[in-house]
Amino acid sequence: MGSNRFSFVFMNVVLLVVLLGLTSLIFDKTGLLFKGELLFLAFLIFISVISMAMIFGDMRIGWTIMYLTMLLALCDATYLYLKDAATGKWLFATLFFSAIGFLVSVMKIRAPKRRLPKPRVVEFENFVASNKGKKYHKEGCDWAKKINPSNKITITEDEAKKKKLKPCYCVTK
Ligand SMILES: [Zn+2]
Repeated sequence: MGSNRFSFVFMNVVLLVVLLGLTSLIFDKTGLLFKGELLFLAFLIFISVISMAMIFGDMRIGWTIMYLTMLLALCDATYLYLKDAATGKWLFATLFFSAIGFLVSVMKIRAPKRRLPKPRVVEFENFVASNKGKKYHKEGCDWAKKINPSNKITITEDEAKKKKLKPCYCVTK
């Protein structure tokens, strides 16, 4: 969590207002519109819970789901306004907060990953091995000096492992 804590709490507040807003907007509806909206709202609650759990767990995909949730909420509020002449403070709050939530999610999706994986300490050191041998060595190793120069190859540790060569004691010590 860490620096994401603020965004997480913030999005919870945004989400709460949006869902309350939509609930209040469909409360006085009847018939098919009410049933449809209720189903839609249940779906929004479902995916927002999933996205919040993912955001809490620092999974970036959570912000993509949140982005979709907010977009759907924004569209629904607009639909209710246009088709059903919804008005009032809840319509305003829903539109406003879902737009904010949408923008925050977009920013979060685009933001560079804050916690980059710790770079692996890569050994760029080159080792030597014999074309005919089964082990790889450090350059200065006595065994390495005995390798016939015509068979001697320079090799990285990754390459040596791919060739299934074993490290000499000079490497492991
Ligand atoms: Zn060696």
